[in-house]
Amino acid sequence: MSTKLAVTKPDSGRPTPNQPTFEDLQLLAEVSQLLLLTDLEGVVERVIELAAKAVGASAVSLFLTEGSHIDWNHLRTMRGLVGEQAVKVVSTVMDKGFAGWVHAHKKGDYIEDTQTDTRWVIFEDDKTNVRSALCVPFILDGEVVAVVTLLHEEPYHFNEFHLRLVTIVANQAASAIRNAQLFYNVQSHERQLNAMVQAISDALIVVDHEHRIVLVNEAAKLLLDPQQVQFRGRALAEYAEHDSVFTEVIGHFDVPPSNFEVRSERMQKDYQVTITDWQNNAGQEHGHVIVIHDITMMRDLGRFKDEMLRVASHDLRSPLALIAGYADMIDIDLEDPSSPIREHVSIIKTSVERMGTLIDDVLRVERVRTTPLELHEQIDLAGLTKVVMVNMRLVAAAKAHKLSLKSELEGIPRIKADPVLVRQAMENLIANAVKYTPTGGQITVETSYDAERFYFSVTDNGIGIEETHLPYVFESFYRVESMNNADQPRGSGLGLSLVYNVIARHHGEIWVTSKIGEGSTFGFWLPLIALEDA
Ligand code: ADP
Repeated sequence: MSTKLAVTKPDSGRPTPNQPTFEDLQLLAEVSQLLLLTDLEGVVERVIELAAKAVGASAVSLFLTEGSHIDWNHLRTMRGLVGEQAVKVVSTVMDKGFAGWVHAHKKGDYIEDTQTDTRWVIFEDDKTNVRSALCVPFILDGEVVAVVTLLHEEPYHFNEFHLRLVTIVANQAASAIRNAQLFYNVQSHERQLNAMVQAISDALIVVDHEHRIVLVNEAAKLLLDPQQVQFRGRALAEYAEHDSVFTEVIGHFDVPPSNFEVRSERMQKDYQVTITDWQNNAGQEHGHVIVIHDITMMRDLGRFKDEMLRVASHDLRSPLALIAGYADMIDIDLEDPSSPIREHVSIIKTSVERMGTLIDDVLRVERVRTTPLELHEQIDLAGLTKVVMVNMRLVAAAKAHKLSLKSELEGIPRIKADPVLVRQAMENLIANAVKYTPTGGQITVETSYDAERFYFSVTDNGIGIEETHLPYVFESFYRVESMNNADQPRGSGLGLSLVYNVIARHHGEIWVTSKIGEGSTFGFWLPLIALEDA
């Protein structure tokens, strides 16, 4: 039942009046002060002291029930018992003794004479000479978390009045223990939170409504001023003088939750700043939380990628043109039409062509991702679909596919969209259906709309895609590997990525459903509401 116990000797005894005295009232006042204590051990020590003083007890013992989750290790052990001996005494007392009775009945009581009351367990080696005892439980949430026993060498020392007095002390003590526990929990949560805040690599600054610093983490200190130790209470504006990042930050305070990029010339770094508002429950205190994330590396990578694309578009294209030119010349110069070199040259020419297409595709996707949309035109989606069907008819016919349109676009409003990109997206989906459907297939284009969206889909009865590949088909360079590579249509794995980006830039959504061996449906929707460029 219980494994720990404690005892203290009160300083002095005193007579036991039956009416409240000035001392008793003073005691109650002292007991109420317990609620102000925030350390658990302090509360317990004080309770023991006060209870003993209240009733003139000569010794006090405290038994904790299991599950009270309180670490009382430092408290002294009753009767000088230690280790196993103490455990034996405690378990016997809690099992058969007076403390056990109080615990089981959840109410206090007193023993007038330990020699006649069967609830008192007398140990063989007991030299304490206790003749009367008073015991009360500490109850928290209906559960007994501890029992305190007051002892005296004379019989008939304790009376009903004592019991009431100590019960009041115990009730107050239970509340004080609860308070101390809550305080302890809050403190440990705060420590945890603080450790987390300090550990994050982004700079984090919390300011109040007057833009004075409330909290900073280690990363923020480096950014604000590595030489300084005390940041709390200082105005954020102080730091704007030596780093324009903070001028920008302060400038964004009046705009609701914001996210922006800024460069610090002092640090030679680029940052992404996020500002959110905070306020306490009552709303009297408020301010901003600023998170500053170093994006220098990302920016450098971005610049590197742009440079690579520039190289790809110009520096790669010229040697490719040269190779293609020389391959043509070799072809022309070959006198023997059956020479095996002719086949080698043809392979060079096809490879060069494929490389050229790949470069074009990469540049096209990049352009879609980064250049502003041409949103000036109000486009007629019904008309655009018809143009697409005309453009793709020949492509489909080359593989003897039947290409049909089911259109329900009568009365569709014109929308603001980039017509070239939307047309490219539609054509790419149809081109894929043509490519991944064996000769003589059926390809159906469906269009419709409702109050908010325009829907476009292409269904084929081609080879289909295994479910495991579906989540990835819109990623750049992703191609479904077929068992028989020779049969696989050529491609760069960029077509669907381009469609995805076009639709995303227009705030629409793309989807796919497919069954291997039966066919696929690729579709997207675009919002009919007015679009601003993303
Ligand atoms: P690719 O240049 O390879 O066609 P895409 O990005 O257009 O690149 O398509 C990615 C992959 O998705 C293709 O390699 C193909 O495996 C699969 N796929 C796309 N459309 C279809 C379709 N209609 N039917 C079956 N598979 C398709």
